[in-house]
Amino acid sequence: MTDRHADVYGMASVLPVDTFYEEEPAFVATPVLALLARFLPDRTMLALEAWHIDEAAAMLTLHVTSTQACVPCPLCHVRTSRVHSRYTRTLADLPWGAYVVRVQLRVRKFFCDHPACPRQIFTERLPTVAAPWARRTLRLAQHLLAYGLALGGEAGARLAARLGLRSSPDTLLRLVQAAPTPATSAPQSIGVDEWAWRRGHRYGTILVNLEDHQVLDLLPERSAESVAIWLAQHPTITVVCRDRSGLYADGIRRGAPQAVQVVDRFHLVKNLREAVEAFLHSQRPALQAAAARTAQALTLVAGPGPSTPMYRGRHQYAPVQQQRQEAAQQQRHAAWVATYEAIHALHAQGTPVTTIAQQLGISRPTVYAYLRRTRPPSPRSPQRSGQVLRPYMSYVIQRWREGCTDSMQLWRELRAQGYAYSSRTVSRFVTRLRRASEAGWAPETQASPYTRPQGPSARAVSFTWVCPEVKRSQDAQLYVDQLRQVDQAIGQAYTLSQAFLALVRERRGDALEAWITEAAASGIEALARFAQGLREDLAAITAGLTLPWSNGPVEGHVNRLKLLKRQGYGRAGCALLRQRVLLREVGSPGGHAPMTTTPARVSPRVQQGTDVGARLQAA
Ligand SMILES: [Zn+2]
Repeated sequence: MTDRHADVYGMASVLPVDTFYEEEPAFVATPVLALLARFLPDRTMLALEAWHIDEAAAMLTLHVTSTQACVPCPLCHVRTSRVHSRYTRTLADLPWGAYVVRVQLRVRKFFCDHPACPRQIFTERLPTVAAPWARRTLRLAQHLLAYGLALGGEAGARLAARLGLRSSPDTLLRLVQAAPTPATSAPQSIGVDEWAWRRGHRYGTILVNLEDHQVLDLLPERSAESVAIWLAQHPTITVVCRDRSGLYADGIRRGAPQAVQVVDRFHLVKNLREAVEAFLHSQRPALQAAAARTAQALTLVAGPGPSTPMYRGRHQYAPVQQQRQEAAQQQRHAAWVATYEAIHALHAQGTPVTTIAQQLGISRPTVYAYLRRTRPPSPRSPQRSGQVLRPYMSYVIQRWREGCTDSMQLWRELRAQGYAYSSRTVSRFVTRLRRASEAGWAPETQASPYTRPQGPSARAVSFTWVCPEVKRSQDAQLYVDQLRQVDQAIGQAYTLSQAFLALVRERRGDALEAWITEAAASGIEALARFAQGLREDLAAITAGLTLPWSNGPVEGHVNRLKLLKRQGYGRAGCALLRQRVLLREVGSPGGHAPMTTTPARVSPRVQQGTDVGARLQAA
């Protein structure tokens, strides 16, 4: 162990000047004390008296005094220089390499001489160095706060420990919770939406400024009261963007009657899609018919592909195996139908869902899923596997068209592209291509969900339906074209819903009422119900289809919130989550800085140095 004490003037510990540096005039042998003083938290307020290094503990201790001659009383702010006493504070500071740095700060107590001031003795404050009574310097606290905000308690403390900052998860969380939230300017246009604590169980409310996209607040509950109270405290608000829920509509009406309510366009499209899905659920035969016609249309467009007969030698047992598979599939389907009928019978008798779930030995969500159905589930094709192959299907089809029909060869080629699954999956898909080729279908029909014999699901079609035409894939577009021709009512529903989507995309709120009238008279029940819903919230929806505001920024913050929530392993309370959301941009340039930071003091030499660097880069 080597202990060294530097003398007060730092002269005894002058660095030995290496001969290597003698030719370089920029390198000056600075006395150690002067060198170390450069790294103090605030050099304008502190002076370094001595330093001490403990090799065994890897600790550098700096003995520091305050240089303020007179200081203001924290209560009456009158300056005074009459010293009462001195004492030492120990502060942890940022580490220097592998060394922990400890600052022994000598501070003074002063008399307040102002006759009217109730405070007689006070301790000098060093606001740029450390908070009163703090055990760490401000800059160390800011580092720890940044870790806590970015990563939460556990992960933040782990990273801090790796970087040599000693702290605990609880310390980080305390710092995050104690950090002051930024003062909000008077917001005018805001978005309000719900966010899930636990999906389906507990929700909160998020409020976002739509002008600068900053989160304004996070409320622990989703209620009209809490939104009304919050809005009443912010009278500058003139526009509130919201979802379709009557709850927020009520809260806004009560808390900000002056504000224009705007329904978010995303939610309108979502509701339309749900109406379309409900409509398509009763159109299963049409969905199937359109799938068969799409396979034909796709074959016409893409060409039938090379004729590749089945390889009979290896597949002679295939019919037997296929029969076995089909029998198993039929058995599974019979079980689904039995479950469906049992659930609906019990439900009709008034049996509670929990009891049904217990009696049948299935989960409650499954019971609910069956209850939502109006008919038993349809038998599924046994060829549902191959999802892992999906990204590679277009390549396999391309090679197939080039004449490569050897599944092992294709598997080897796919492996070279990063495919990590079995050759059996590839070989099953190649068998499908062979069957399609025998039947005269294009190989592309085997890669498309729109050409399956049982047809795509109503849900999948509803998403394609509301998707803009330019974004649809070729097979999706072919399918929609076929579906419109299969059934007149479907064609009419399609035209109606595209007209509504045009209103949304072109923001023609003035044409909304005419659309509602048309939809209500269309005879398509799902769309008529959707139109009736629009009529009940007409003013806000017209505003949504006229004004430029939308809740896009809010959705982005809700997604970030999900990440922050999961980082807390479900243990973070709302207060902590709120801090992490509101203080996101702590320390970043242009963001909110909750703590006063020491202004950067750059010595002339450093400035010169950067100038040189810039000149070098320019050269
Ligand atoms: Zn005073």
